[in-house]
Amino acid sequence: MPERMHATTQGMVGQTRDECAVISLDNVTREYPGKAGTICALEAATFSIVAGEWVAVTGPSGSGKSTLVNLLGCLDRPTRGELRIDGVETGTMSAGELDRFRADKIGFIFQQFHLIPYLSAVENVMLAQYFHSMTDEAEALAALDKVGLGPRAGHVPSELSGGEQQRVCIARALINNPPILLADEPTGNLDAANQRIVADLLRGLHAEGHTIVMVTHDPEMAGLAGRRIALNHGKVFCHPVGGPVVRLGR
Ligand code: ADP
Ligand code: MG
Repeated sequence: MPERMHATTQGMVGQTRDECAVISLDNVTREYPGKAGTICALEAATFSIVAGEWVAVTGPSGSGKSTLVNLLGCLDRPTRGELRIDGVETGTMSAGELDRFRADKIGFIFQQFHLIPYLSAVENVMLAQYFHSMTDEAEALAALDKVGLGPRAGHVPSELSGGEQQRVCIARALINNPPILLADEPTGNLDAANQRIVADLLRGLHAEGHTIVMVTHDPEMAGLAGRRIALNHGKVFCHPVGGPVVRLGR
């Protein structure tokens, strides 16, 4: 991971923001068919995120936050526009290539955890290894140790608190060492004490060089990020650090 930090620092020298972008969107639009007509969940989003940035995505319910995260995570494809991740135009990839790409590049942290209820914590983490390459129990246990859950590795999700389940989810997201972490309301279901634990974990991961894109309603969590991308009715507004609010895209 320190190599990534080094590369980021070097990458910034003499290069434009777009050249250092790990994520870049050019007029990305996502429409859904609806009974009363087409719903434009994301409208001509044009912005970039550089390696090592921590960006908070905010906006009211239904403004397009999850749509954006699903697109960035290659779980969904734009209706129109170009989405480049780590220099690759994702629209040109087949479904199989996209699966592989996602497993290499992206770790997901969900509000609802999405753990398999009948698998233990360590087995849930190993499942992510399995989808990527090969399972390695020692590595999965080390990931659980990193989030302070080594002693609970044998417990199934129903035997863990919400905060502990979210930490299993973070261990699972980290297991293949992806450069990009996408978090959709990572503390939405947690009490204050567990929110602090998750915030500290994210802080550490950012310091290690991960790029973090985090949807949050919580101003305290949003304040941890270096930049805010606000959504309203599918339109993107960016808040540069200390600068004015700017409407991006067409
Ligand atoms: P948020 O995460 O900010 O609450 P979403 O991205 O989930 O918002 O949704 C944005 C808009 O797109 C909403 O109007 C929602 O109803 C609509 N939408 C989201 N997913 C779908 C879908 N699969 N089919 C139809 N409409 C959808
Ligand atoms: Mg959402």
